[in-house]
Amino acid sequence: MSRDKDSLVIRLNSIITNDPCALCGARTDPSGVDLMTEDSRLVCVPCGREHAPELQGLIDLANAASAYAEIGRWQMEHGATSSPPPY
Ligand SMILES: [Zn+2]
Repeated sequence: MSRDKDSLVIRLNSIITNDPCALCGARTDPSGVDLMTEDSRLVCVPCGREHAPELQGLIDLANAASAYAEIGRWQMEHGATSSPPPY
């Protein structure tokens, strides 16, 4: 495996820290599934899109699925005919 560029990985962020992005220093907004460097430092979404667009795409998908699950749960509790809250 080549180490000549930053390798990013998807990690389930169980710690929920607000560490700055390892690549650009911007504030990150950890949401459970996050992009990190191989040594577990958080990477922000814009850097993820730039350095690993395919991985960031997977995270977008995971977040969309989790928002969808939230709406499903809300509808089960409040009835499917009610409008779900705007997530
Ligand atoms: Zn960044």
